Amino acid sequence: MVEIKELVKRYPSGQEALKSVSLTLKENTVMALIGPSGAGKSTLIRCINRLVEPTSGSIMINGVNVCDLGKKELRLRRRKIGMIFQEYALVDRLTVMENVLSGQLGYVGFWPSTLRRFPQEVVTQAYTLLERVGLSDFVDNRADQLSGGQRQRVGIARALIQNPELLLVDEPTASLDPKTSRQVMRLIVELVQERNLQCIINIHDVVLAKQFAQRIVGLQDGRIVFEGQSADLDVNV
Ligand code: ADP
Ligand code: ADP
Repeated sequence: MVEIKELVKRYPSGQEALKSVSLTLKENTVMALIGPSGAGKSTLIRCINRLVEPTSGSIMINGVNVCDLGKKELRLRRRKIGMIFQEYALVDRLTVMENVLSGQLGYVGFWPSTLRRFPQEVVTQAYTLLERVGLSDFVDNRADQLSGGQRQRVGIARALIQNPELLLVDEPTASLDPKTSRQVMRLIVELVQERNLQCIINIHDVVLAKQFAQRIVGLQDGRIVFEGQSADLDVNV
């Protein structure tokens, strides 16, 4: 379970991006963060893995307050948080397989030769994941030979290789056409359920959010203005 209490983020510029945000997320659930540009969605996602340092408040993930963690503990904790990015953040000159394995290292800027030292079980797991996301025919292709939808599937497999408990997804469909967007969203929702994950998706497309997420949180000007089941969200407002 993720429990966020009275989270405040004030940037050094003085901008208050989050003004006392509290929310709870359970297992097996996709929560969509919606709201206009500048509402604080990215800031909230980034506070959860402390890419952005919260000013005050608490973020409990399965009983651990990530705001209290020192550097080393934070690094270990981040392994249990999978990130999927808008622009995929793949390494173009590496293969699909190498990109997925890079998720096991927990960071992107690594030296490719380290990939050869991966245990066979990790490589097998990567194959299984690539099969699951429909890319088994592309394992040895370079990442820059893939379509946008395929690249996002690699991003999904990379986020899942370290068996995270929580998946943070930042605008996964921003660079995709509507049909591919729906396929990617469906895949994420299926994987969250198959693997009993908790998932927060930052998404500006309200229709997609309503169609695929179970819970919706609407942010505006750093505050929660809507929280509920997606069925309760009126997309015509
Ligand atoms: P509302 O939709 O009006 O906010 P509730 O918060 O009572 O109503 O939630 C309705 C249902 O959603 C309940 O079955 C509850 O268990 C479930 N639920 C509530 N909060 C969450 C959450 N953060 N994640 C997943 N399910 C939730
Ligand atoms: P969203 O993801 O909903 O578009 P953001 O979290 O990116 O919103 O931004 C929320 C507010 O915080 C905006 O007013 C934005 O300008 C400001 N902001 C975001 N990042 C920074 C930063 N690094 N420094 C100062 N202000 C920032």
